[in-house]
Amino acid sequence: MVNVTSVIEHPSFHVEAGTAVGTAMRELELPNKGADAIVCVKDAEGNLRDLSHVPDTAGEFTPVPANSPEGRSVIRHSCAHVLAQAVQAEFPGTKLGIGPAIENGFYYDFQVAEPFTPEDLKTLEKRMKKIIKSGQRFERRLYASAEAAAEELKNEPFKLELIQDKGNVDPNSDEATEVGAGDLTAYDNVNPRTNEVEWSDLCRGPHIPTTRYIPAFALTRSSAAYWRGNQDNADLQRVYGTAWETKEALEEYQLMLAEAEKRDHRRLGNELDLFSFPDEIGSGLPVFHPNGAIVRQEMEEHSRRRHIEDGYSFVTTPHITKADLYEKSGHLGFYKDGMFPPLQVDAEYDAEGKETKPGQDYYLKPMNCPMHNLIFDSRGRSYRELPLRLFEFGTVYRYEKSGVVHGLTRARGFTQDDAHIYCTDEQLEQELTSVLDFIISLLKDYGLDDFYLELSTKDPKKFVGSDEIWERSTDILQRVATNSGLELVPDPEGAAFYGPKISVQARDAIGRTWQMSTVQLDFNMPERMNLEYTASDGTKKRPIMIHRALFGSIERFFGVLLEHYAGAFPVWLAPHQVIGIPVADDFSPHLEKITAQLRKRGIRADVDTSDDRMQKKIRNHTTGKVPFMLLAGARDVEADAVSFRFLDGTQVNGVPVDEAVELIDAWVKERINDQPSEQSLAARR
Ligand SMILES: [Zn+2]
Ligand SMILES: [Zn+2]
Repeated sequence: MVNVTSVIEHPSFHVEAGTAVGTAMRELELPNKGADAIVCVKDAEGNLRDLSHVPDTAGEFTPVPANSPEGRSVIRHSCAHVLAQAVQAEFPGTKLGIGPAIENGFYYDFQVAEPFTPEDLKTLEKRMKKIIKSGQRFERRLYASAEAAAEELKNEPFKLELIQDKGNVDPNSDEATEVGAGDLTAYDNVNPRTNEVEWSDLCRGPHIPTTRYIPAFALTRSSAAYWRGNQDNADLQRVYGTAWETKEALEEYQLMLAEAEKRDHRRLGNELDLFSFPDEIGSGLPVFHPNGAIVRQEMEEHSRRRHIEDGYSFVTTPHITKADLYEKSGHLGFYKDGMFPPLQVDAEYDAEGKETKPGQDYYLKPMNCPMHNLIFDSRGRSYRELPLRLFEFGTVYRYEKSGVVHGLTRARGFTQDDAHIYCTDEQLEQELTSVLDFIISLLKDYGLDDFYLELSTKDPKKFVGSDEIWERSTDILQRVATNSGLELVPDPEGAAFYGPKISVQARDAIGRTWQMSTVQLDFNMPERMNLEYTASDGTKKRPIMIHRALFGSIERFFGVLLEHYAGAFPVWLAPHQVIGIPVADDFSPHLEKITAQLRKRGIRADVDTSDDRMQKKIRNHTTGKVPFMLLAGARDVEADAVSFRFLDGTQVNGVPVDEAVELIDAWVKERINDQPSEQSLAARR
């Protein structure tokens, strides 16, 4: 995968007050071209600075190479400036929005008369190449005052708004690219021959020294956008692009994109007749067709079996609840924006239509936890019952903005494989260890096998619970994660206010990472909902609560597996496992006999008796990703045998029927995730 490169970590170097960082760096003789060219530096506080930065006091700086995540993001944001310069040159009068770096690229928002066409993007790319080649310098300039900035930007209404709003801009937002913390600054693009300013932009920086530090870029697409993401605001056009430290890195990324496009689960879902999103039901609310429902059911069944083996108790809970519950749990306080608005029921009216009894608010449930807590709390609990592991395939509804709804991976209604574990302090370490083992082992059952962990720890500005419990449980999570032997990536201050979290990230077949499972400690909800158990000494104690979702949601996991396997699910999950294809009609009964035997063993097997010719049938079922195609001709019938045809085009002829049935049956029952082929079958005969 393109993002995984070995980045050289440079030691820091000393810069005297009044000396430009770049000048001080010169004697280190670091590269200024190629994949590891130094594009900027990081100061002791972790802020990125231009190479032209002149510190007021002496200090230490670390070089940032082009192929590091931070280096790439500086290149990408600089490329966004070049794009904006090109747009204003090609489309005079265009007003500028914002232009941040984002994951794998950048965008810039513009107010233009007409949406950009694909041809426009080509024209812009050409103009950008010229700008890059001309080697314009990026020069930082401090505005004398906010008024001076406003005067200079009087024709840029969106920039003006940002200047006025500077104090309120979230430092983590895209807007902060322009007016982050600190001084109000502009970056001028200076022509190296004439020293004239060609273009400038309100920006906090930093930037690469010159446009020549953008070795490879491409504009990818344009789309409609709203100013500051709010649909009440002005309509803008957003142009997306990507930029990389080398042409090779760009090509590798484009290849990955093309592969991802081919595997897009929304497209495969349609081609393989798995699921759809009918307009009549609404955005983000999928229906699963028979083929998709089989896969989903197999996924759930296997998970259910494994959960039973591991000591989980199954519960079910309703989809709606009175507001009281979510007030008590705190969701209405901190999660209301993510919930659908309430349904009001049970109001009573008199003859004149005047309300005599007020109605009740009911909410669609966005999370299962409060309901599981009610089950825990339905009677007194003894320490002997702990750990208590309540599990549910619980369907929840979350109000996602329509702009972020994305197929099965970001839906408005979905089913979590959700468990809540209540345990004692003493049980916590053992419980977390087995939960993590269980998660990894179950994800591997589905054929994912490349994982790393992320540990989110306390945000010192926002947390509930004692420092002691945070420290101890973070230590435990850290130990459990380390003992798992998996790579551990820290996420400092990334925890929710109610407890630390481990998440399991899985890499798929084309190297993309997906956040899968989360194991979240919660010190808040047991307190709010007053959960207790009786300890061995007879005193009442609070249980520790662990939220744990393994797939995340079944729908999302379905989407991830669909893309991971590019539609060719392992045999045990495949909607159609075996299809008989007679060489001529006469041989159908022979195949019917075999598929009947297979069906008796619970295998999904049919014979294609349509009028299509054999070659056409093979093509259809190859496209339909049926893993076992059984062919039968005269010789097969005579020998009571059958011939295998596989998705990779290979074939194994004349397998005795009894052996064929056993082979297929074992492939399903053993849940072999590799596709059968001439080669993989030979290994089992
Ligand atoms: Zn900038
Ligand atoms: Zn929960």
